[in-house]
Amino acid sequence: MRINSYYLSLIQEMGDPIWKQAVPDSRELEDREGMVDPLGEEKLSPVPGLVHKYPDRALLLVCSECAMYCRFCTRKRKVGRPEMVITDATIRAGLEYLQKTPAIREVLISGGDPLLLSTARLEEILCSLRAIPSIEVIRIGTRVPCTLPMRVTENLVSMLKKYHPLYINTHFNHPAELTPEARQACSLLADGGIPLGCQTVLLKGVNDDPETIRELMVGLLAMRVKPYYLFQADLTRGTGHFRTSISCGLNIMRSLIGHVSGMAVPTYALDAPGGGGKIPLTPSYNVIGKGETDFTSYLGQVFQYPGEKG
Ligand SMILES: *Cc1c(COP(=O)(O)O)cnc(C)c1O
Ligand code: SF4
Repeated sequence: MRINSYYLSLIQEMGDPIWKQAVPDSRELEDREGMVDPLGEEKLSPVPGLVHKYPDRALLLVCSECAMYCRFCTRKRKVGRPEMVITDATIRAGLEYLQKTPAIREVLISGGDPLLLSTARLEEILCSLRAIPSIEVIRIGTRVPCTLPMRVTENLVSMLKKYHPLYINTHFNHPAELTPEARQACSLLADGGIPLGCQTVLLKGVNDDPETIRELMVGLLAMRVKPYYLFQADLTRGTGHFRTSISCGLNIMRSLIGHVSGMAVPTYALDAPGGGGKIPLTPSYNVIGKGETDFTSYLGQVFQYPGEKG
């Protein structure tokens, strides 16, 4: 476990949504159903530390540590553990793979948390990626704006902005994480011209109700962070007590669509167990039994639109 002093300071009381994300729970040891590697990442790794699942993008793991360890982490088999070995050699092997695989146009830098690297080390990696002509877009996945926002400094941003087009997807799960410090971190990044997205995980007892998710999504948008994915929890061993039903997620999506800005509506997605990729889960607005012609609006009124002719 790791809980830094900033994230610790967000805990108001035992068992609150911040506590649940950070403090170990004995139920983690009782979960026998979950899988150690729920997304089948190890078998999709042509070289250690690189996951190539989709044709045109790949995930490069550059750091084994995070600012705090989330109890529900999909990569808890390795993140923060000695088993997760990232060295100059693994990163070099990843870069070589990217070089000889020009179909990859986008690289997602993840870990662990890439922003736990020193600014100089992260710059070396970005610089090496930019030297590969087939790579158009770089995306960094980091929870630091939420869990250690003071790591985002002017100095870091002035380095990052040299490597555009660069996107950052961060990870907030609860409105209590939208603090003045987090807002400041996101402002600095957005001012550096870095488009910000958010990948939230739906977690039982943390954010599994429409009001909490609505407040989170609208709050993120106001911080210039575009909600990107709302993930159904993965089948990771030791995280069963966080899992919600899919109908819970669909119900939350219904409460968002049409009711708040479309800019604040993420894609609800299931990452297919075993490594099939992300599957969007969208509530149906077709009227049951009326085929392709009758639809309900977000308010439940029925509207007709003729089916395809000819
Ligand atoms: C999620 C993921 C991606 C990115 O998928 P997008 O839908 O483009 O966000 C790429 N590679 C791996 C291995 C992933 O898990
Ligand atoms: S920040 Fe991401 S990688 Fe790190 S522990 Fe949390 S979910 Fe896992």
